[in-house]
Amino acid sequence: MTGRKELNYKPLFNEQDLKKRVSELGKEISDQYQGEELICVGVLKGSVVFMADLVRAITVPLQMEFIGVKSYDGTSSTGHVQITTDLTADIKGKNVLIIEDIVDTGMTLDYLINLLKVRGPKSLRICALLSKPDAHIMKNDVDYVGYEISKEFVVGYGLDLDGDFRQLPYVAQVME
Ligand code: 5GP
Repeated sequence: MTGRKELNYKPLFNEQDLKKRVSELGKEISDQYQGEELICVGVLKGSVVFMADLVRAITVPLQMEFIGVKSYDGTSSTGHVQITTDLTADIKGKNVLIIEDIVDTGMTLDYLINLLKVRGPKSLRICALLSKPDAHIMKNDVDYVGYEISKEFVVGYGLDLDGDFRQLPYVAQVME
């Protein structure tokens, strides 16, 4: 394991797995938005690595925006979602695709959907690299999901543990 700190981990998805799945998602998204334009809204900071790869697999014209939220402390959700950075673009009348690293309880997503819906987008869809269906409290549909996983805490490919391990090129499960 590279990374600043030692971590007991088990690899879940390697670089090849991620590359293949991201390209499939890009194709699916490109097919569904044929003839349209997109605003991809990356949720900071966890989605950055995934988003960088995903946008390069999407063939329709798009713009990149970011929104910052804070909801986690260490390995557990605080249940409180706060906005830390807002969009710079007006999304009224635009096709918006929220790009999330992972949907756990779904509270962050629920907050974001409510926040962005009132700004009048033409459409609002969600793409998440990972989803933990057994942990969902809020039941919003996620339109594009890379992988469904169980409730384990994962790091890498943008996902952190107290700010570390985001740069790992694979997704790993953190072992207690
Ligand atoms: P939710 O609001 O759905 O409970 O949590 C969403 C956010 O919590 C994600 O965007 C992510 O930042 C963080 N999160 C949830 N599960 C995990 C996990 O297994 N690993 C990491 N690193 N972050 C997680």
